Amino acid sequence: MNRKVKQLITGMPATDGAGVELVRVIGQPALMELDPFLLLDCFRSDVPDDYIAGFPPHPHRGFETVTYLLNGRMRHKDNAGNEGVIEPGGIQWMTAGRGIVHSEMPEQENGLLEGFQLWVNLPATHKMSSPAYQEYDADHIPLETRPGTRIKVIVGETSEGNTGPVSQPLTRPLYLDIQLEANTRFVEPLPATHNAFIYVIEGILRIEDIQGDSVEVAPDQLAVLSEGLSVALESTENPARFLLIAGQPIGEPIARAGPFVMNTEDELRQAFRDYKNGTF
Ligand code: FE
Repeated sequence: MNRKVKQLITGMPATDGAGVELVRVIGQPALMELDPFLLLDCFRSDVPDDYIAGFPPHPHRGFETVTYLLNGRMRHKDNAGNEGVIEPGGIQWMTAGRGIVHSEMPEQENGLLEGFQLWVNLPATHKMSSPAYQEYDADHIPLETRPGTRIKVIVGETSEGNTGPVSQPLTRPLYLDIQLEANTRFVEPLPATHNAFIYVIEGILRIEDIQGDSVEVAPDQLAVLSEGLSVALESTENPARFLLIAGQPIGEPIARAGPFVMNTEDELRQAFRDYKNGTF
């Protein structure tokens, strides 16, 4: 059975970091989380004032931050001496684990900066694991083509057997960047165990909702999908581009405050103490 649209979410304008204008799609009142996903921020601006202040040093603990850039460049630097630049089409999958302090700063003074940050939760057994990175530029991301369809396979495996370079066996995520020509249908099986959503970047997607009606999903909208074995949708008379993201829910209690996501309030307080004491 195909998955249907269960809930349609419109991104909410927000400001984060040192004043970066973005659209918060997951992690806002309309959708606080979609287990295992805790947050989805989308940023797209060619006005330097919207992004230039970036995200100066800040901590994370207990989950993973995933940055995928479509345009522009972002330099990251952490307290363990790791440093690098995420380029257009590149992905950084950072497992914050027990804790990391890092900065994420636009590596440009003008031009278009466009991309996404997704937060993926970790199960209790792995919240205090050592920090780790999986980082790949566009050349390492397989491009799968089907009639009228181009799929960048960032994480997970498609039904045609293409596998993204990032792996995370704990939540077995799928992260696809899909472009459809006009009037193109896209069908893809998804693991029945997974929560899944679609986020439209450009164009309009038509997909059935749980009432059996056809709904249109527009840019900056996220469609939460119901349970099922596959996703089926189509573009309209214009091309479309969207993210298809899925992951296995963790099913544990969530205690979150700012950059920390733990299981209990006690663990949250410990995270703040450790950060303050420099024992992060
Ligand atoms: Fe961060």
